[in-house]
Amino acid sequence: MSKDIATPNRTKDILKKYGFTFKKSLGQNFLIDTNILNNIVDCADLNNESGAIEIGPGIGALTEQIAKRCEKVVAFEIDQRLLPILKETLSAYPHVTVVHSDVLEADIHKVIRENFKENQDLMVVANLPYYVTTPILLKLLEEKLPIRGIVVMIQKEVAERIAAKPGTKDYGSLSIAAQYYAEARTEMIVPKTVFVPQPNVDSAVLKLTLRTEPPVKLKDEGFFFKLIRASFAQRRKTLMNNLTNNLYTKNEREKLEKVLLECDIDPTRRGETLSMEEFALLANALADMEI
Ligand code: SAM
Repeated sequence: MSKDIATPNRTKDILKKYGFTFKKSLGQNFLIDTNILNNIVDCADLNNESGAIEIGPGIGALTEQIAKRCEKVVAFEIDQRLLPILKETLSAYPHVTVVHSDVLEADIHKVIRENFKENQDLMVVANLPYYVTTPILLKLLEEKLPIRGIVVMIQKEVAERIAAKPGTKDYGSLSIAAQYYAEARTEMIVPKTVFVPQPNVDSAVLKLTLRTEPPVKLKDEGFFFKLIRASFAQRRKTLMNNLTNNLYTKNEREKLEKVLLECDIDPTRRGETLSMEEFALLANALADMEI
């Protein structure tokens, strides 16, 4: 049996055989440490009946370790040059399907319907391309896919922002968006040395466990997110200033102040101090009134 793909030597041999050159613009930093890969897959709690979706298989380092632990894997890869490589490196795993597509353009619901069983336990597991981490995660969450959760290697700073609590410097609209859909936890910090080429930033493995029920009741989900984006538009401004600059007009200041006070929220507070429950209370109160 051949060696794992994710060893420095085997990776070097594969890249050399195909004359593959990394594209920085596609966030191509491949993992060359089997221990780290196994730790990532452990976080996903897969079993032999699970299905997994991977984004960006590269030369198949993580794909291989996922494939050893579950029933079916579908991997989205944007870079056509990797397709013949994956065909060879993953030939021992016929239950892996590679979809040549930009995941941001893909109809993931359709891919799930076509490749997995109904109600199959499903996880997304990936070492994400860092240039599109946030759009990919938001797409996975907002599309309400039938998945149990997401385990991803991402830039450490982004993982910290996603898992941040109110009142901390990292807390912002991304934290609330992610935590509305999922429970977020940073599972481990990963050194740069396990990648080739080495990225400039530190990395972390983030686990998002999807909620079965939203943590807050909302009258209008779209408005809740609009309110949050407006509240964090300029971090150093007060809630009142951000809202009158970005969502309402200055003429509506008085009415807005009244609603804030009714919700027991001091208008001079900054958005970063409000909990998700407070944002929900405010969004529901504002959705009710014609302001
Ligand atoms: N999984 C491999 C590993 O861990 O060694 C490679 C991870 S590398 C950080 C990111 C991978 O995502 C690359 O293979 C890259 O070509 C692919 N990629 C980049 N943008 C993508 C996109 N929008 N959709 C799908 N794949 C993408």
